[in-house]
Amino acid sequence: MRLPPAVPRLRAVLHLAGQDSRGLAEALGIELADARRILGAVVGRDRPLREARNVRREVLDRAAREASNARLDCLEKVDARDGFRRYLFGLGDGARVEAVRIPLFDTHHTLCLSSQVGCALGCAFCATGRLGLTRNLDSWEMVAQWLAVRADSERRITGAVFMGQGEPFHNYEAVLRAAYVLCDPAGGRIDQRRISISTAGVVPMMRRYTAEGHRFRLCVSLNAALPEKRAALMPVERGHPLDELVDAIREHGRTRDRVTVEYVMMAGVNTGEEDAEALGRLLRDIPIRLNPIAVNDATGRFRPPTEPEWSAFRDALARHLPGQPIVRRYSGGQDENAACGMLASRAS
Ligand code: SF4
Repeated sequence: MRLPPAVPRLRAVLHLAGQDSRGLAEALGIELADARRILGAVVGRDRPLREARNVRREVLDRAAREASNARLDCLEKVDARDGFRRYLFGLGDGARVEAVRIPLFDTHHTLCLSSQVGCALGCAFCATGRLGLTRNLDSWEMVAQWLAVRADSERRITGAVFMGQGEPFHNYEAVLRAAYVLCDPAGGRIDQRRISISTAGVVPMMRRYTAEGHRFRLCVSLNAALPEKRAALMPVERGHPLDELVDAIREHGRTRDRVTVEYVMMAGVNTGEEDAEALGRLLRDIPIRLNPIAVNDATGRFRPPTEPEWSAFRDALARHLPGQPIVRRYSGGQDENAACGMLASRAS
């Protein structure tokens, strides 16, 4: 179903929204309390800068001087039959990105955000990968996706996942800045543990993420546990091979948080007994959570498993990964190109 745009244009001060309170205080050389009030207006209440309460005129003027002509236009929004809503946004330089609003329990939403325009990693099963990379998004451009969707939503948005267009760890600092705005008590007020950052396996940045002690949920898109097979599906395997990736997953598992391992199921490709066995060899002793999800490939090269194929694979996984949580993730929004792996900046 095609719908009119949600928010024609967000305000010029929006790029101030790309920093959490602390970052804003440093960037503007102002007191933390003032930064909180400014963020509370611009992000928390989505109001113009001048409506920040109890901030001196001189501080507001300084913030206004730093504001640029940041733009994010909602070009289109489309509703899939299952309630997923895909948004197409236009940026000031003509680039386009998408975000997907995902319904949760008929009471609230979570939001899938893009971190780059396109993606350089070229995974074989992914429409974004076929676009190639245009550029990184600024942190405010990620927060702006959330603001635009929130303005269009009656229910609360209580979670965010960086799983839209792009490899978040190729845009590490901007993604983390945006994530901290989303969980800032003056900003998005989303529980940190309900914000997920997903990587295809950029190992050095995973190690940095773990060493820095961030508490957002870390997800790794694994998709094959046999190196040749993974390299054929995900060229990133050639730069950051499975043994290094598994070490980084193990290292993160030593913190309080286990990694969520995403596994895009492609029938006849990575859902056989030998695939489950290889997963078991790699991950059996590491605390993880495994999320299999059916592939969505509009080119027809890959197909999702049938129900009997899924049952057989699930049983094999249970045998080879005893005691590990295995939760199949619903793959929604296919009829409007809103599902995982389908984001390609298309107008419908
Ligand atoms: S699956 Fe993720 S990392 Fe791979 S090409 Fe698509 S957007 Fe990039």
